[in-house]
Amino acid sequence: MNAAISYKSGFVAVMGRPNVGKSTLVNALLGQKVAAVSPRPQTTRKHQLGILTLENAQIIFVDTPGVHRPRHKLGERMNEEAQDALEHCELILFLVDASQPPSDEDRLLASRITSLRFAMETILALNKIDLLPYSSMEIKIAECKTAFHALLPQAEVFAISATRGDNREALLAAMIERLPEGEPLYPEEQVTDFFERDIAGELIREAALLLLREEIPHGIAVRVDEFTERGETGAFISATVIVERESHKPIVIGQGGSMLKKIGSAARKEIETMSGRKVFLELRVKVRKNWREDEQAVRQLVG
Ligand code: GDP
Ligand code: MG
Repeated sequence: MNAAISYKSGFVAVMGRPNVGKSTLVNALLGQKVAAVSPRPQTTRKHQLGILTLENAQIIFVDTPGVHRPRHKLGERMNEEAQDALEHCELILFLVDASQPPSDEDRLLASRITSLRFAMETILALNKIDLLPYSSMEIKIAECKTAFHALLPQAEVFAISATRGDNREALLAAMIERLPEGEPLYPEEQVTDFFERDIAGELIREAALLLLREEIPHGIAVRVDEFTERGETGAFISATVIVERESHKPIVIGQGGSMLKKIGSAARKEIETMSGRKVFLELRVKVRKNWREDEQAVRQLVG
């Protein structure tokens, strides 16, 4: 038998302020998958951005929810989760927008990395270099490198474009190099099942937020109560949409149940696309007063 080629696996925390291109980059990397799962990162509150399983490595990309001043229990919990995600990963990938100078938010995020209890392997990716003027590209990249490197002196720096693809491969290789040797943490064929339930919940929430527009900002959670396989006929999912106020319930239900029906139908289509099979979706609405203020409820619904 040949000496086994070492396999690498681990968690990579993707950090960066909103809009720097975190989701775009992870999705692009997942695009070259052997197996990959992408749980709709734009709206997800869960950690996983996706799992990339390659022949020589498996990377689990985790999101670090934004750091903000906690105004309610949910905010606090999200900050805790951000810290948690950082401390339970092997590598931090810090993304910034190369077309803009460092902002206060970049500084704040970088300081969270430098003040961690353990020194973490960190890669700094200057994204969106395709937006830099072509004629002075080299100079601009150098300037940008200097400015951002000052925030994270220990990091290795890559200038990339998530959309155009510049240096994406080099970045991926550098990440793999820094991961510890180890078996895949998630068996390739189980990856989908494992996350399906969570993803389904997120897709329902996403559909509800999309259809309800701004009428019920943020005060919505989805709990998946049942997710069972029904063989050839597909999967049966039963879920509860939880709202904060009594007055929100009729909005979610709509005239004669029309809104809930729309939400269910949109979510079902998304879940079917995600899972590649037929889905029966049953939705109900429940009021849980001020669920965001209730720590236990938040843990149940979000954690
Ligand atoms: P996130 O909030 O950090 O996850 O950012 P997104 O991945 O949602 O990206 C925010 C916006 O930046 C989207 O409109 C992307 O298309 C755009 N974007 C991401 N990467 C690049 C890039 O490399 N170049 C350019 N020009 N735009 C990008
Ligand atoms: Mg995103």
